Amino acid sequence: MTDELVAVLDQEARPTDAEGKWPERCIKILAESGLLGLTMPADAGGGGAGMRKFAEVTEKIAEHCASTAMIYLMHVCGAQVIAASSSPRRNYLVKQIASGKAVATLAFSEKGSRSHFWAPVSRALRNSRGVVLNCDKSFVTSAGHADYYVVSSGSLDGKTVMDSTLYLIEKNTPGIEWSAAWDGVGLRGNASSAMLIRKCHLDESARLTNEGEGFNSMMEVVLPWFQVGSSAVSIGIAEAAFASSVAHTGSARFEHLNETLASSIPGIRVRLARMRLTLDSARAYLDHTLTRIEKGSADTMLFILGSKAIAAETALTVTDEAMRACGGAAFSRDLSIERNFRDARAASIMAPTTDGLYDFIGKALAGLPLF
Ligand SMILES: Cc1cc2nc3c(=O)[nH]c(=O)nc-3n(C[C@H](O)[C@H](O)[C@H](O)COP(=O)(O)OP(=O)(O)OC[C@H]3O[C@@H](n4cnc5c(N)ncnc54)[C@H](O)[C@@H]3O)c2cc1C
Repeated sequence: MTDELVAVLDQEARPTDAEGKWPERCIKILAESGLLGLTMPADAGGGGAGMRKFAEVTEKIAEHCASTAMIYLMHVCGAQVIAASSSPRRNYLVKQIASGKAVATLAFSEKGSRSHFWAPVSRALRNSRGVVLNCDKSFVTSAGHADYYVVSSGSLDGKTVMDSTLYLIEKNTPGIEWSAAWDGVGLRGNASSAMLIRKCHLDESARLTNEGEGFNSMMEVVLPWFQVGSSAVSIGIAEAAFASSVAHTGSARFEHLNETLASSIPGIRVRLARMRLTLDSARAYLDHTLTRIEKGSADTMLFILGSKAIAAETALTVTDEAMRACGGAAFSRDLSIERNFRDARAASIMAPTTDGLYDFIGKALAGLPLF
């Protein structure tokens, strides 16, 4: 992360949040810095980075502008599906992403199956050159801004909602409508609007997985990158709130006592300590998860599921502590803490949601099937 990139993220974070605008300038500088291609294969011009480096970069972006970090995370997830695909256009698409010329995203969640993204209720139909898609996608990060949309739909002749296929829809393809502009409580720059896909005709080269193998790609390709990246976003937001809390409580003064908030009030020092320890625990769990991924340990999936749950809970706890430690100064928009507090809320309701993750982990521990 260059100083110039950090400066742009810092300059853009507040207007991005206040105006709810997609952070064009931040994405442009990510592209120029080579970060849009960070995880793409080196032989296609990408950075060839693995998940550990990706987590490190995503956390840093989130520390400065969480909306940009979430856009980046969805971009990397979409890019990974494209890179893993056998589409005849794969090499061209990967090169576009690696060179920073294309932004990708995921369009999985549907109005009908809500946060159960693995179960699209839409179903693809055959046409003479490929498929026709009709889907009601409920939230799509970078809606209308991304170049490549990795879209799930029930597979041709599929029998259940678990029989899905992933397709690529490019920006400006006929048959796409966007709902009203995104207006969320946090991550306000995300442009996570609904996407209405109607009579969208795609040829065979748009198919990114084998017919009926969308679920496998969601679990084996998307889930690890998403969970690790989402954990990094949550940790980055919490680090920002912690740093602001230390700075504020160490500088705001009770003049009548000649003390700072931190020096005067033991309860504030306790809050700082709790924030740090909670954050370090989430960071250690993520580090442990990455080590298991790198080693290919048998129980890796449990840790992949757990990492996002722990980091999302951490972001909620730490930003809540920060709001309380810094009082009215945090409640106003003088500090960035109230933005951190709002941005932190997204991870626990983004699928797989924290409640859903607890349910999956509980099922695994009880020896029950996950689906
Ligand atoms: C900022 C943002 C960006 C997003 N970007 C994208 C994107 O780019 N692409 C995309 O596909 N989607 C995206 N989403 C959608 C997201 O992943 C979820 O699908 C969506 O937030 C779910 O909202 P819902 O109202 O449909 O939840 P619901 O499914 O209605 O959930 C309501 C409640 O039920 C709980 N619940 C559901 N199932 C279970 C279970 N099995 N066990 C226990 N509790 C359960 C949930 O935890 C939640 O508390 C985005 C969402 C947000 C907020």
